[in-house]
Amino acid sequence: MAQAVWRTSPNYSAGRGGRAVDRIVIHYIVGTLAAAEATFADPGSGVSAHYGIGEGAVHQYVSETNTAWHAGDFAMNQRSIGIEHSADAVRPPSQSTYNDSIELCARLCRTYGLNPLTQIIPHSSVVATACPGTVDLQRIRNAVSARL
Ligand SMILES: [Zn+2]
Repeated sequence: MAQAVWRTSPNYSAGRGGRAVDRIVIHYIVGTLAAAEATFADPGSGVSAHYGIGEGAVHQYVSETNTAWHAGDFAMNQRSIGIEHSADAVRPPSQSTYNDSIELCARLCRTYGLNPLTQIIPHSSVVATACPGTVDLQRIRNAVSARL
């Protein structure tokens, strides 16, 4: 996996409110990694994620020990890791974005003891949204499952 590079976001809550991490929430950016970085760096946006993947890079915005603001539901934010993918409605993630995502998700599933088939979830299962759009979630789940 591309080495994760910090692009610290001011948009997070300290800690996890006592909740254990038991979900990975998959998102698409509807744009490039640069667009996500600009949004998450803006305190006025009120949004963030833990990781973003695209254009051959992996960025980390929020520590895994803290709550990122990505799922649109605070309790879900407290118990999840949010991962953004460079993609939009007509541009699915690249092969390299999938590869980096699968490697990152495999590491997270090992760290937190997660079942990739049930605990890697689409943003759309949390709130009504088109996200994660063109991301093939089952492809990620199956590839991670094969690695564990
Ligand atoms: Zn999303």
